[in-house]
Amino acid sequence: MVGSPSRSDFSFSFLLALVWLSSTGPFVFGQSIRLRVDLTDAPRNIYHANLRIPAQPGAMTLVFPEWIPGNHRPSGPIAALTGIRMEAAGKAVVWQRDDVDMYAFHVVVPEGTQELSVSLDAITSADSAGGGGPAASSNLLDLNWNSVVLYPQGGASDAVEFVPSVKLPAGWKYGTALQPSNISGDEVEFAPVSLTNLVDSPLIAGKHYQRIDLTRGSETTAHHMDLVAETEADLAMKPEDLAAYRKLVAETGALFGARHYRHYDFLYTLSGEVGEHGLEHHESNDSAAAERTLLDPDVHMLYAALLPHEFAHSWNGKYRRPAGLATRNYQEPMVGDLLWVYEGLTEYLGNMLAERSGLWSAEQYREALALTAASLDYRRGRTWRPLEDTARSVQTLRMLGEQWSNWRRGLDYYPEGELIWLEVDSIIRQQTQGQRSLDDFCRRFHGGESGPPMVVPYQFDDVVHALNEIAPYQWASLLKERVGSTTARAPLGGIERDGWRLVYNDQPNLFTEAVGKIFKSADFSFSLGFSVAEDGKLQDVVVDSPAYRSGIGPGMKLIAVDGRKWTPAVLHAAIKAAQGTTAPIELLVENGQFFQTYPVSYHEGDRNPHLQRVDGQPDLLGVMLTPLTH
Ligand SMILES: [Zn+2]
Repeated sequence: MVGSPSRSDFSFSFLLALVWLSSTGPFVFGQSIRLRVDLTDAPRNIYHANLRIPAQPGAMTLVFPEWIPGNHRPSGPIAALTGIRMEAAGKAVVWQRDDVDMYAFHVVVPEGTQELSVSLDAITSADSAGGGGPAASSNLLDLNWNSVVLYPQGGASDAVEFVPSVKLPAGWKYGTALQPSNISGDEVEFAPVSLTNLVDSPLIAGKHYQRIDLTRGSETTAHHMDLVAETEADLAMKPEDLAAYRKLVAETGALFGARHYRHYDFLYTLSGEVGEHGLEHHESNDSAAAERTLLDPDVHMLYAALLPHEFAHSWNGKYRRPAGLATRNYQEPMVGDLLWVYEGLTEYLGNMLAERSGLWSAEQYREALALTAASLDYRRGRTWRPLEDTARSVQTLRMLGEQWSNWRRGLDYYPEGELIWLEVDSIIRQQTQGQRSLDDFCRRFHGGESGPPMVVPYQFDDVVHALNEIAPYQWASLLKERVGSTTARAPLGGIERDGWRLVYNDQPNLFTEAVGKIFKSADFSFSLGFSVAEDGKLQDVVVDSPAYRSGIGPGMKLIAVDGRKWTPAVLHAAIKAAQGTTAPIELLVENGQFFQTYPVSYHEGDRNPHLQRVDGQPDLLGVMLTPLTH
């Protein structure tokens, strides 16, 4: 059922956790673990932490968070955990890692002691919460607390309390959803929080920092953007972007009708030195984009939907969460089968909110949608792997390379989830003659009573039930068909019901063009059948495409086209010249130390995806893209 359990149900599980904890192990429940993190070595990508864990004498097992919320997989950076030292009453205590569980540490707290002191270091050169790349640079840092904590094995994360504090590099300023209780120079202590709240509240800091108020009008809940960047110049937000982010906040209020946080912080890092990422939390999101995102219109367009996506997760993903992802602590495995709702619906809402708030124009929204639809329509792996299997396999699919991703499939529950929810929205609007929409579903499913963060888990049947309350339809069979299908074609029903069609022509798609400009790569997926990096490396080859049939594979390197050194312009010219002829395009390709010429038979010219209006059919997409606020 969809109705929200009351907030007291949440406290009930908290009480159960108390009973459990008080009956086991020497960890002293009711006292806080004091956690101090020294971040002054951040430019070298190592964080130093000390934990003071209240304990009674006896055997104890401490664990390092393994399953990280928002990552949906065992991405806790255990290999980066170093320098572990344990002490009691000033004397070293021997610890031993578990034989099988690499995240568990056994220790015996000696007689006559009441506290275990644990020192540890987190190496952050490969990030700390599942992104890619380092967590810190010379000028800024990102602290995910899961990388510097140990907690008693078996404890519910709601029931273990921490008093966290940090020492920042001299002069750096910070942003976090945590509330400071004491600030002294570069040292900040925060009010006590549960481990759940701590892991949910990352901290960013930097030399160049700006805090922006995003609250407007009658909004009573505080919203801020905390920006850090490599240089002061990167922080210069244009007035139209500021207005758009304020509108984004207002639009979510109108869309969901309730807020499940006390205050909200957009933690936004602009840097080419650290790993790009976006990680959702209840009261903040921790996102990192390119250094010139606020300055360069092309870069801005590529990242415009990032913050709307992560912000929408506060409702869809954090507050309402698939039961399989709502685990009791960070050692319990997660089940990802409903990620096409968690991520897919968020992808749909995030892109829609980017347009409604003015971060994207309607044309940019349509170009992004066309590229998504085309990419999925050319996804050959869909003939063997249903969408639901990509969600269930999140543990194995994340962070893999591009090679053969067209055949293997990747995290397709994001983009294909977007197409499915677009179709659901279209059907609701058509079934109710425009009286209702997915906006009404969001108000019912994600709205309710405003208040502090809480989790209301759901199952597949709850989603179906809520949809039927908005517009009766065969939702269960439609959704099961969509996520279980192994048909070759992508679900384009939403686009078609909305009065548009997916077409291909020789005009560049805005997004592939911007990516090409910025990253110097080129995308020929819908013509020859490959995408290629600046150095000629073939990122992926589409199975059954002309390039594939010629014998070319991903990982090989394109050297020359019809006898001339490869560049995107040379390849485009060759495709144009081959149009309407019968002669193959000759591609000289390097494979390790060996070279071979592959004749590719292709004569249909450049093909880039766009949406085109269908004459005489109402523009439902235009209605969907209309903002809810003024
Ligand atoms: Zn997401």
